[in-house]
Amino acid sequence: MSALNQIEPTRLIRLVEVSRILNSTTNVDELLTFIMDEATELIGSESASILLLDPQLKELRFRAMSGQILPALTNITIPVDSSIAGTVLQSNQPLVVNDVSQDPRWNPTVSRTLKHATHSILCVPMRAKNNPVGVLQAVNKQGGKFQPADVETLGILADLAGTAVEKARLIEALQLANLQLSQLDALKSNFIAIASHELRTPLSIILGYVSFIQEVADPAMASQLDHVLRAATHLRSLIQDMLNLRYVDVGQATLKLVKMDFGVLVAEMIAQRDETAEAKQQTIQFSKPAISLPVLLDRAMMEVVIGNLLNNAIKFTGQGGKIQINLQKRGNEVWLSVLDTGVGIPEEELTRIFDRFYQVGDPLRRSYEGLGLGLAVAKELLELHSGRIWATSKLNEGSQFYIALPLLF
Ligand code: ADP
Repeated sequence: MSALNQIEPTRLIRLVEVSRILNSTTNVDELLTFIMDEATELIGSESASILLLDPQLKELRFRAMSGQILPALTNITIPVDSSIAGTVLQSNQPLVVNDVSQDPRWNPTVSRTLKHATHSILCVPMRAKNNPVGVLQAVNKQGGKFQPADVETLGILADLAGTAVEKARLIEALQLANLQLSQLDALKSNFIAIASHELRTPLSIILGYVSFIQEVADPAMASQLDHVLRAATHLRSLIQDMLNLRYVDVGQATLKLVKMDFGVLVAEMIAQRDETAEAKQQTIQFSKPAISLPVLLDRAMMEVVIGNLLNNAIKFTGQGGKIQINLQKRGNEVWLSVLDTGVGIPEEELTRIFDRFYQVGDPLRRSYEGLGLGLAVAKELLELHSGRIWATSKLNEGSQFYIALPLLF
């Protein structure tokens, strides 16, 4: 309290104003320069500057200055153990030096770089989260000596600057983490794109030759080749899942929207034979609504979305199970639902299944094939269409997947 008593009311009002402005600014360099300008103004000094500690090198470097920081200044390093700023940092106490020429700790390089003489200095420690991070200094008090009120005022500004520096460090760390993440993501996407593309060509040759040999082989051999063919077809669908991911990554650029009756598209897709569903003797039910349901869609992308839902329903439903597809108009949207009587999904997994590579259960011990990409791709492709996807389910009873798309009028 006694410290604040030494500060004139007009200064206190200005300090409150400064802290209000600081809270509404996020650009840290602007913030620090602003604090320096305020320090010069409030203290009545020629200039003010901030030096930050490099914790590894144990050196102080200029980070901000009233007016504008000179690039040449940022190259000057001030050692912690033999300088005025270093003494303040280490002692955590403010220091007034009214005649720097008499102080052996003064480093004249700074004055030479700035091209104006330094006479007096008021230096206060700056802390962030209670750790010493640097110092704030006011140089050359105009018309006299630094007063106790100046020390208090600069101390308050140092606290504000400390918070701003902490903010800057957090922002820089976040930006770096973000950059590293997106580089990693790009690397992964490129790897998937290249690997899937490169795998496709030899696989097509295998599929072609096996189909041909199967036609001319004797029945025993043909049945053996059936295993090869099935495995190769499975591999092709995995590769297709990976290629679809690439689709999403460049999605917006390649989106080719056309107007189409959604019912017609769904009917066409369901009409295609599905060998797995046939082998499992599953019933697939769908009755196309009488009304037209026009939507704007990229046909190839929407086929991937619907295909992924149908394939999952078939894959996760057992022998003799039922799959029911419904289409209905709901307000300004069309809703497609795919209901199955399969294994179901635990409640707590119902949102995570839409994440890339996410699969229910331990992926190393699972009994279903797949990469965990189908639903993530479906979700991202739907978002390109301003649509949504979600699921409800009861474990061991079945799942319902819904997609909603805006109707076109
Ligand atoms: P995957 O290639 O593994 O099928 P998806 O992204 O399509 O990848 O699905 C993610 C996970 O969600 C699946 O591995 C499965 O655990 C669960 N899942 C998806 N659809 C169904 C469904 N109809 N019934 C039960 N589980 C499902």
